[in-house]
Amino acid sequence: MPCLYDIVVQQREESNPGYKQALYRAIEDAAKESHLRNDEIYTIKVVFHVVYKTEEENIHDSLLVRQIERLNRDYRRQNADTINLRDVFHPVAADARIEFELNEIRRVQTTKTFRPSFTGLPDQVKQTANGGSDAKDPDHYLNIWVCKIEPLTFLGLESPVLGYAYPPDALSHWPAGSAAPAKELEGVVIDYRTVRDDSYYIKQLNNNIPMLGRTTVHEVGHFLGLRHISGDAGILGVNCEGNDGVDDTPTQGMQSQFDCNKEQNTCGAGEPGDLPDMVENYMDYSSEDCQNTFTKGQVAIMRSVLTTLRKGLIEDVSGTDDVKISGITLVPNPTSGYFSIKNTSDVIIHSLEIMDIRGRIIQQFNSGFDGYFTLDNLEAGLYFVRINHQITKKLVIANP
Ligand SMILES: [Zn+2]
Repeated sequence: MPCLYDIVVQQREESNPGYKQALYRAIEDAAKESHLRNDEIYTIKVVFHVVYKTEEENIHDSLLVRQIERLNRDYRRQNADTINLRDVFHPVAADARIEFELNEIRRVQTTKTFRPSFTGLPDQVKQTANGGSDAKDPDHYLNIWVCKIEPLTFLGLESPVLGYAYPPDALSHWPAGSAAPAKELEGVVIDYRTVRDDSYYIKQLNNNIPMLGRTTVHEVGHFLGLRHISGDAGILGVNCEGNDGVDDTPTQGMQSQFDCNKEQNTCGAGEPGDLPDMVENYMDYSSEDCQNTFTKGQVAIMRSVLTTLRKGLIEDVSGTDDVKISGITLVPNPTSGYFSIKNTSDVIIHSLEIMDIRGRIIQQFNSGFDGYFTLDNLEAGLYFVRINHQITKKLVIANP
């Protein structure tokens, strides 16, 4: 049960018959509204909330930076493993032209546990009052909560849950309950072990499949309106009636089982023009080292959501935490250890401080503002550069 959205849809269907049909229609309408099919790159600002009980769960900044890099590679189709896509799917593969920018990392230590059930998702992680961390302006930021998600218990069996996300609120005027229950609960929740780079979680499950940060790629797909390519019809066995509202993903009768079975063809085998199951798709439940592609139809939905239902995410946010000064830019950013300042403003720079995420000054410069600044072996992560004690710019240090 990697992602829970099928349970959410199932729940809604039970309480609101007709929900699935309504959902399909909403998704199709969103695709049709995709009038801005241009090449513009949309950039989404990401706020991570690390809500932890133990130090192990309090994962390092560098892993979050790596998660952003993973999102950027996969949503720009710059991931090296696109070469594994079978030829038959090349005509539909697409660059989503969506990029992600690390805006802030918030850390909250908690005493609470976050356990999903068939009647509720652990949204307490998104609420400071309930032992979690309140969202930052959900109209303008993609909030991603990283925590330990307790397994779902069903008939005495424990099933791990890697993450979950609600679809956009276009669905709120359709049968009730499809979108997040409240604006502040929008965003993505992922288990901290999906971000680790040592396959810890899955090894623990007696399986040796690497976690590559693609749980978040998948959940952000839901957040931007995508459904599982099976259309969630095959939860109890192969069922070819499901529909993900996307024309160019093949009909698939059930989710993959966290594997990479390229022989699998659950629906339409032998019919003219039939395609095998698209296990390479990020919205299947195939293993993360199997996935490498979104389709053109999926990209059209995500981009139309970003110009309509979630358009605040790609708007410029006038600075509340930044003193907004245009004309001062740090390049390169992200950097692996040095940067220079491009200054076309009329500000005369006389001091520059590097601060960590907690606001501690870790390096200072008092001269040489027209040259390169070399950073003292700083670990990968998010930093702030404060200019003249008042202008704050974000600087991301990535692993070389
Ligand atoms: Zn999912």
